[in-house]
Amino acid sequence: MKSLRFRLTAGLILMIGLLLFALAIYNGRVLEETVMNQLEVRLEKEANLLAKSVDWPALFLRLDTLNSELRRFSSADDVRITLISPTGEVLGDSHADYKKMGNHANREEILQAKESGLGKSIRWSDTMGERLIYVAIPLERGGERIGYLRLAYSVEQIKRVVYRGWIAQGVVFLVALSLFSLLSSRLAGNISRPIEKMTKVARDIMKRKFGTTVQVEGTGEIADLSRAINFMSVSLEQQVKKISEDEKRFNDVMRNMVSGVILVNEKGRIRLANRAVSIMLGIEEEEMIGHLHIEAIKNFALSQLIDRVFEKKEKVRGEINIYYPEERVLDINIAPLFSDDEHLSGAVLVLHDITDIRRLERVRSEFVANASHELKTPVTSIKGFAETLLDGAMYEEESLKSFLTIIYNESERLQRLIQDILDLSKIEQKKLPLELKKFSIYSLIEEIVPNVRREIEKKGIKFRNEIPPHLLIEADFDRTKQIFLNLIQNAIQYTPDGGEISVTAVEGKEGVTVQVADTGIGIPAKDLSRIFERFYRVDKARSRHSGGTGLGLAIVKHLVESHQGKIWVESEEGKGSRFYVLFPGKREEQHLPIFP
Ligand code: ADP
Repeated sequence: MKSLRFRLTAGLILMIGLLLFALAIYNGRVLEETVMNQLEVRLEKEANLLAKSVDWPALFLRLDTLNSELRRFSSADDVRITLISPTGEVLGDSHADYKKMGNHANREEILQAKESGLGKSIRWSDTMGERLIYVAIPLERGGERIGYLRLAYSVEQIKRVVYRGWIAQGVVFLVALSLFSLLSSRLAGNISRPIEKMTKVARDIMKRKFGTTVQVEGTGEIADLSRAINFMSVSLEQQVKKISEDEKRFNDVMRNMVSGVILVNEKGRIRLANRAVSIMLGIEEEEMIGHLHIEAIKNFALSQLIDRVFEKKEKVRGEINIYYPEERVLDINIAPLFSDDEHLSGAVLVLHDITDIRRLERVRSEFVANASHELKTPVTSIKGFAETLLDGAMYEEESLKSFLTIIYNESERLQRLIQDILDLSKIEQKKLPLELKKFSIYSLIEEIVPNVRREIEKKGIKFRNEIPPHLLIEADFDRTKQIFLNLIQNAIQYTPDGGEISVTAVEGKEGVTVQVADTGIGIPAKDLSRIFERFYRVDKARSRHSGGTGLGLAIVKHLVESHQGKIWVESEEGKGSRFYVLFPGKREEQHLPIFP
């Protein structure tokens, strides 16, 4: 698009050019008319003068000299003079041979002169072969008409004069136009410059490039407009800044929210979905935004809840289960959204992942059931043997001793079970504050050995403490002892006679990792992930027989995690197991997570 300055200049030049052109044409016409009129008046005056000053009757008598006289009269300004008799015969002519000229009685100017005393005409002259302007008057002497005097002048000659006038006007026209062009260009520049600057600023604003301002020049509307644009630029900059700050804050909140938020419009298309939703549902944001919820989320229960909100136009709450990317339980709150005119404009969904809460609830109720079941077994046994004794068996010394031993063992088991349950609940409720100190992990294992020596020796197991003696860890000594006593007791318990148990440790980037390895029966792969659960036992009968409660590893896991450490296991059935415990080098603020 051509610039404003160009268009303004071109417009002004065209306008002024047309005006000048019209003026020149008008002037030319006026000039031509004026020259003609003046010529007519002059010819008329000259004719009258000649009519009066020449003794025409005398000249008529000497026709031979008449023509030369007429030529003499005309020589001064090249006016053709013709003398015509009252009947139209040409008596003499200053420029042509009168004898060859026909009767002039019907010539326009003669007819007019005959009637009104003055005849004028502009027409083609056959005699002269050009256009002439004629003026004719009657000649009278003593009240008698003796002929007509006709003066003629070449129109071409007048045209030449007019033509010169045209040339002069053209030059003036061109000079004036050039001057006007210059002026127009400057004037257009003065108007367009600030407008172009304002346009640039407006374009910058459009591209969100703030900071450029228009220089306010002079006074008046353009200056006012410049000021207004500058003000607008500053205020827009502030507004855009505020909007982007708000937007950033909103996005930050959305991105970092643990709860999922989905916004759907009235047509069911997803307009917004935050990161938590992507994680919960395992769907990328781009795959949701702009798509219908039923297509994008592919969860019938959730879509049904949304449809119910659209139908009832009121809040709905529900719980859904999803199985991909992992099994989760989601608590869904959906509220309808209304536009200003009370029309339903969409719905907002808030998703909470309540998998852990539900699992915890399940684990708790399972724990109660399991604990009751575990407690029931020794109690039933004690009750049964006590009844048998009371029924008379107490009178047989051998039975009495054997049943009392069973009752004693069962009550011991009961005590262990109750102790383990109490320990677990204390750890869970943070009732066991850690007393952190640095100590040699080698020495700690050495302290455990006397407690298990009897079993080791009984089973002929080779026990090796291969931890570098100087390796220190920072932990609660008693709790750590409990951890490794448990792991070593398990290793002894699940390792057949003549097996091997070794305890090693390495210091790495993350901290010190202690390994308790045995050459025992190992753990089947399917059970590996569950052995840290409460009451979980690979082989219930065998474990119970050996006095296990199924709570040992659950307690160990809690103790390790209360140190912000990690515990994991590698095992191969029939070959042995390796339990790893990582004590982190650096700890965050003390916290105790809740684990099943
Ligand atoms: P328990 O009191 O029955 O030993 P734990 O919680 O200590 O309970 O262990 C859970 C289960 O893990 C055990 O029942 C046993 O099957 C398995 N387990 C633990 N340690 C070992 C090991 N070193 N070798 C083989 N299996 C083991």
